[in-house]
Amino acid sequence: MQTIENYNFNGKRAFVRVDFNVPLDEKGNVMDDTRIRGALPTLKKILGDGGQLIIASHLGRPAKNPDPKYSIKQILPCVSALLGVEVKFASDCAKAKLEVDALKNGEVLMLENLRFYAEEEGKPRGLAEDATDEEKSTAKKAMKEAQREFTKILASYADCYVNDAFGTAHRAHASTALIAEYFPNDRMFGYLMGKEVNAVKAVMTEPKRPFTAIMGGAKVSSKIDIIENLLTKVDNLIIAGGMTYTFTKALGGKIGNSLCEDDKLALAMSLLEKAKKNNVNLVLAIDAKIADKFANDANTEFVKTGEIPDGWMAMDIGKETEKLFADIITNSKTILWNGPAGVFEFENFSHGSFAVAQAIVEATKQGAYSLIGGGDSVACINKFGFAADVSYVSTGGGALLEAIEGKTLPGIAAIQ
Ligand code: AMP
Repeated sequence: MQTIENYNFNGKRAFVRVDFNVPLDEKGNVMDDTRIRGALPTLKKILGDGGQLIIASHLGRPAKNPDPKYSIKQILPCVSALLGVEVKFASDCAKAKLEVDALKNGEVLMLENLRFYAEEEGKPRGLAEDATDEEKSTAKKAMKEAQREFTKILASYADCYVNDAFGTAHRAHASTALIAEYFPNDRMFGYLMGKEVNAVKAVMTEPKRPFTAIMGGAKVSSKIDIIENLLTKVDNLIIAGGMTYTFTKALGGKIGNSLCEDDKLALAMSLLEKAKKNNVNLVLAIDAKIADKFANDANTEFVKTGEIPDGWMAMDIGKETEKLFADIITNSKTILWNGPAGVFEFENFSHGSFAVAQAIVEATKQGAYSLIGGGDSVACINKFGFAADVSYVSTGGGALLEAIEGKTLPGIAAIQ
């Protein structure tokens, strides 16, 4: 497999798939440029070698072509400023041959939003709601063929393919996976993607032990596959956040008005049993900070998790639990954190998540490998200012979650 570090891009035209799906304000200004900055090392390496750079991304979920609200043109000034090179623009990603052929070494061309074409995702658009199965199947077949053509056009622009879009690695789209087959000897991960792949490997395939996963957030139902897979990998599984109370209720505890999925009580019991069978130390909160309403200024009390009075709800872990979790975390050599320990968006219920983050930082200082990923735990670690004090903060929400579920990610497999 090629690596970006060893590849010489001099005189080569590189098609780089990035994830520049950034938030924009009403005027089209980039509100958070983290994703663009994340891809800069890859883009700069190609330009530094004297290559010709074609940048391709999706932006939002356009339903038609073109759709000015989702035009990549809006982010051009931001990319040019961060890259320090004026970025040219091809206003139709599937008809960019002229612009591509005009590129010289050291120049950059950015393609219009790939998702203006339904072929990027490969899902037929505009099918009537009452379409028959036959019509659906015909449309699907036609789309497959169109997607092959679209992919071929994108591939024809370049001599080599670089995938630096971990955020879309779990999608088998034209530009994220299918295109790779046109570059059997000239495809590789970008630096950002390489870091993500290594981070997943560090926790999922070669963890130093003890390995502790902290699963928090709102619902068990959204994390079942992850928990099932982790139960075959970890030494300790800490369950935190709102999903705790489905377990507590399943075990016969009183949970008041706390978050609970009543249709998942049996599942919770089976996960507890699977943990026992696999010798996994599954740890639940022992005390909770409860509130009399879902608000930052609610009245609060500390109680044992199975003794929550009616009318009250658990909004954060309690102090004894903070200590229990911190002891396990600081004695771990590999740590994975997904999902907050409480309603961290409210200052008064963020202390438990802060304690978890602090313990992870402490363990990392002592040599543990720590990976933070998947939505709200990333927001947590950033809010507490600890992003630089853990081993890696993943940029790919859904992609990371699927990797932890044990699924093969098409964007990774296509390169490998
Ligand atoms: P998720 O997207 O599943 O990771 O869930 C994240 C959300 O879970 C955050 O918005 C938290 O506020 C919420 N959350 C965490 N703990 C609790 C809790 N005890 N009760 C209600 N919501 C919670």
